[in-house]
Amino acid sequence: MQDWNIQSRSHECHECAGAFVDKQSYRTLLLHGDEEMLRRDLCANCWNEKFRPRIKQLTGFVSSWQGTYEAPPPPTQDAIQKDNAESLLRKLVERNDPDLLDASYILAVMLERKRIIKVKDEFRDETGRRVHVYEHPKTGDVFTIPDPNLHLSQLAEVQALVSQLMEHGLPDPAGAESPNESAADNPEVEAQAVAPAESDD
Ligand SMILES: [Zn+2]
Repeated sequence: MQDWNIQSRSHECHECAGAFVDKQSYRTLLLHGDEEMLRRDLCANCWNEKFRPRIKQLTGFVSSWQGTYEAPPPPTQDAIQKDNAESLLRKLVERNDPDLLDASYILAVMLERKRIIKVKDEFRDETGRRVHVYEHPKTGDVFTIPDPNLHLSQLAEVQALVSQLMEHGLPDPAGAESPNESAADNPEVEAQAVAPAESDD
């Protein structure tokens, strides 16, 4: 089971393949698949008629919420070039390196406190580990990130790693490419602003 991943918002209904239009309401289902989390975006009709009545019987049901589709704006040069905390989180989750889980989690907490991403839900995986479900409201992308249960004594080290990654980018795993462009000039997120969340475990 891979709980640590990104699920992007679909541009059409998973059931009827009808294209979403700007400002349209849709329903997101999050399910446990065999290998990874599955995301299903549904139009209101399919949700109400085919899924809602049997939501409790759905195999692997984890979570569900309503969203409003936003048509993607044309990309600007600025947006393409900007390598900031958001794109660092995306790269970390895509890299899916267990050694970087702590940093990914701290970065997600930072972005959540800045209201750049929002907590949608949380669940326990099969090992009992708590997994947080975050959504980026603008893009609709969903990040599922396990809680590494960081101890207070580990925090400074992880924050230093996050600061380093924001400044120098993610090292290339194969060493084939030049280092990523700097994200040090991103004013939105300060790595030092994070304190540990109280664990209720
Ligand atoms: Zn549909």
